[in-house]
Formats: sequence, structure tokens, C-alpha cells
Amino acid sequence: MESTTVGFDALNLIDPICRAVNEEGYTSPTPIQQKSIPHLLQGLDLLGCAQTGTGKTAAFALPIMQHLSENHQHTGSGAARALVLAPTRELACQISDSFETYGRHLNLKHCVVYGGVSLKPQIRSLRKGVDVLIATPGRLMDLYRQKYLRLDKIEVFVLDEADRMLDMGFLPDIKKIYDMIPKKRQSMLFSATLPPEIMRLTKLFLNDPVQVSVNPPASTVDRIDQRVLFVERENKNALLESVLQDDSVERALVFARTKHGANRIVKNLSRLRIKADTIHGNKSQTARMDALRKFRAGKVRVLVATDIVARGLDVDGITHVINYELPNEAESYVHRVGRTARAGATGVALSFCDA
Ligand code: AMP
Repeated sequence: MESTTVGFDALNLIDPICRAVNEEGYTSPTPIQQKSIPHLLQGLDLLGCAQTGTGKTAAFALPIMQHLSENHQHTGSGAARALVLAPTRELACQISDSFETYGRHLNLKHCVVYGGVSLKPQIRSLRKGVDVLIATPGRLMDLYRQKYLRLDKIEVFVLDEADRMLDMGFLPDIKKIYDMIPKKRQSMLFSATLPPEIMRLTKLFLNDPVQVSVNPPASTVDRIDQRVLFVERENKNALLESVLQDDSVERALVFARTKHGANRIVKNLSRLRIKADTIHGNKSQTARMDALRKFRAGKVRVLVATDIVARGLDVDGITHVINYELPNEAESYVHRVGRTARAGATGVALSFCDA
């Protein structure tokens, strides 16, 4: 993790938050945290140009938690005080995990809602109100329309990965949500890129924002040992098998171009008694979460994915990224290999290249 010598203690964060980040092993704030936290603690709006991997989640989560716990208020039934919108279920869950981790010494309630699963448990956890609600836009609208949720108590609003939200067609939902939350609030928008549509959204959402921008975590890429292996298509399975026989491959993320391709790889690996699982768009949400949980816990050593679901995937300790098939776009390559060498670790990226 890219960082400078300033410690967290210079940021005026309250003790329970400092303790939690220390326990996570963070010694100093990352550049986005250093540049954002002081402004956010003052209640200013912020436009953050930063990607996943830069530590942007803590950059917004820590000041939000500090604000909520210092200005403690009872949330009414179905209400939330802070709303974080994320484009995918995976990202929403990761953000929720971060609030859990950083808030472990605080008495704040948070809840995550996303589509593709039953409404009931989400309705139940919203019933008494929460301090922080993390949501994907579609499910949020659903809960709102069915009157399980109120948005009139929102004090802080975060739009995370705004460029992806637009790519995924969430703009109409986001605009509706924006109309439903109080005008007097603190807002933040994070985006990896700032195309004109995002700048328009920024003008609508943010009030005289501070703009901070950090480079993509280039240092991450520096720590990845990247190799190309030339191989005929019919020999790829054998090559994968031999790569996976090496004990240094503790946790491998294998990329296929299609869902069928991913399934075929898993099938083949299980024939070789190598524990593998897949996450791709055809899998149910429960199956994807289950696969991710096992992969995180080290119960499954190999996870096979397609590009869409792997964007933003944050699993620490992925030692190897294997491109069983090369992606069509350079950007996908960068996203893929960036799943290793997270949080200061090193990693290996192997690309199988056929004729
Ligand atoms: P994010 O960009 O929020 O997805 O964070 C990327 C990774 O960096 C996560 O695994 C965090 O746990 C980790 N991280 C965030 N802040 C720090 C920090 N100050 N020091 C070390 N690791 C961090």
C-alpha cells in the first residue's frame, strides 16, 4: 500500500477508530486518506478521483463513522443516517465489511442491501433504523417504493465508483435517489475516471466540493511479477495443472473469457482433485458469496472468474492471477492483475497466450 510517513494520529480521528485501524495493521494513511479525511471531518463535500485498491473505502468510512458517533442520534424506524451507494453486490458487501472492521469499537449499526436475494432479512435489519446503509441502487429503490425505508434522515451521502454506476445504467435510479434525500447533507462522489457525464453529476450532487485525486495504485503493479507463457490452446489445461502444483500458489484467481470457459476449467480441475470454484454472472448470488467466502477462508485454493464479476474484487492474499485466456482490452488486463499484490503484498501474474 502506497503511503507516506504521516501517521493516523495526525488526522484527528477519535480513539476507537484509531485503535481499529491499528488493529488492522495500518501504520499510516494512504494518500487518498491523507488528502480526504481532514476535509471530510470538517463536513465538506468531496470529489475523489481514485480506484479500488487506493484505500478509498476507509477514506470515506472513517470520517462518516466519526461524524455519526460524535453526533449521536436515534434513527427512526426504517431510516438511515448515512447512505453509501455502490454499483455491485460484491462491492457493497466489501464496503459493509469495512464499516464492520473500522467500527468495531463504536456503537453504530450498519446494514447492506442488494438485489438477487430475498427482501425479508434486509427488511428486518432496517426495521429499527440503521446508522449506515450500504446499498446497490436497484434494491434501494425497491425497498423505498415498498415503504420499508425512509431517506429523509440522511446526513451523509456517498456515491462510490460513480463511473461504473453510469456504465451499468444506474443514472436514472441515482437521480431519483438524489431527489429523495435531504438537500442539507454532506456528499461525496468517488470515481476512477472523470468523464463529462461524471462532472455533470458532480455539479448536481456536490456543493462546492474539495477535489482530491490520487494515481492508480501504480506501486501495486510494480510489485507484480508479470509473465507470458506461450502455449497451444489444447495444452492450457496441462499447463494450468503444472502451475498449480507449485506450493507457492496459495490462492489463485484464474480468468476465463466466458462463463462456459470458466465452468470447463473448474470441471477439469476437479477431475484432477484440485479444489476450485467459479463466480460468474450465471451463478446465483448465494452461490457467488459462498464461493467467495470459501476462497477468502482458504478452503478453496482456485477461483475461476470472468471479467465482469471480478472488477473490484478485494480478496487479500491472492498470490497468483492466471489469465487462462487473454482479455480483449488492455484495461481488463490491468484490472485482472491488480487483484494480486493487494495491501502491500507481492504477486505473480501469468498469462497463457496461444496463437
Ligand atoms: P480500498 O481501495 O478501499 O478497496 O482498499 C484496498 C485495500 O487496502 C484493502 O484491503 C484495505 O484493507 C487496505 N488498506 C486501506 N487503508 C490502508 C492503510 N492505511 N494501510 C494499509 N492498508 C490499507
